[in-house]
Amino acid sequence: MTHRVRGVIARSKGAPVETTTILVPDPGPGEALVKVQACGVCHTDLHYREGGINDEFPFLLGHEAAGIVESVGPDVTSVAPGDFVILNWRAVCGDCRACRRGRPWYCFATHNAAQPMTLEDGTPLSPALGIGAFAEKTLVAAGQCTKVDPAASPAAAGLLGCGVMAGLGAALNTGNVGRGDSVAVIGCGGVGSAAVAGARLAGASRIIAVDLDDRKLEWARGLGATHTVNGRTEDVVKAVQELTGGNGADVVIEAVGRPETYRQAFYARDLAGTVVLVGVPTPPRHHPQPPRHLGRGGRRRRLEHPRPQGRRPGHAGRGG
Ligand SMILES: [Zn+2]
Ligand SMILES: [Zn+2]
Repeated sequence: MTHRVRGVIARSKGAPVETTTILVPDPGPGEALVKVQACGVCHTDLHYREGGINDEFPFLLGHEAAGIVESVGPDVTSVAPGDFVILNWRAVCGDCRACRRGRPWYCFATHNAAQPMTLEDGTPLSPALGIGAFAEKTLVAAGQCTKVDPAASPAAAGLLGCGVMAGLGAALNTGNVGRGDSVAVIGCGGVGSAAVAGARLAGASRIIAVDLDDRKLEWARGLGATHTVNGRTEDVVKAVQELTGGNGADVVIEAVGRPETYRQAFYARDLAGTVVLVGVPTPPRHHPQPPRHLGRGGRRRRLEHPRPQGRRPGHAGRGG
């Protein structure tokens, strides 16, 4: 059976998104059909619409969702109809060399649903981040479903699928923040706020939240920031250095994705520190310097190389 439901799609680069009827097939082997209960609006959806991710229009937007499993493919045992789940971007294979080492976040054979969801004329849709949850129902690989406490509110639980995961993971996993570390978080939207909370969970002693908006800085304090810096009125690099004995922070987490904040992150870290770049740049922004040795792993990038000698610009945004 094919399910005719409403979905929000981006048909072409920059065009306004529209709500339209989409066709969602019944789940085949390894797949699950999920009735979406809530889906956050994430900046990455805007990147898709702007053609900043790839050109595979039309996109079915939405990727930060929670819902109820409606039906599953014949061989699926990990979830069952009625389960309350959050949706992950990709299912991992469990069998490649990364998965076998217990590092599924590096999985070399991630997958999404095999069958396409389509427009009424049969045009296949590209689901944002393999999810496409701005829709009443979506088809995903069963491994993309993670069961959560059904007592949780769908609107809150859905955030775990993107913003919270990206920010907490940047602090706890990629940044490996430890007890007593100093941490600076640049950009305190959903992801940055979660990074502040992650740094707090990890036992960081000094957590410096950086943003241009005093309201977001106030929220960051509520989540565990010990200090705040407003980049509109303060020199971010200098302020972070002053708050860390002149050395810079042990871990700097960038959650904006702009060249100037990349530079701030790089120069605000301790020479023996770590920069975690989480922000997703929208092309055609250029990042000519300094991250020339970036490792890539999904949205997680980590930089652990010493600052080039003799390059300590007085303020970020300068120096090339
Ligand atoms: Zn997102
Ligand atoms: Zn794998």
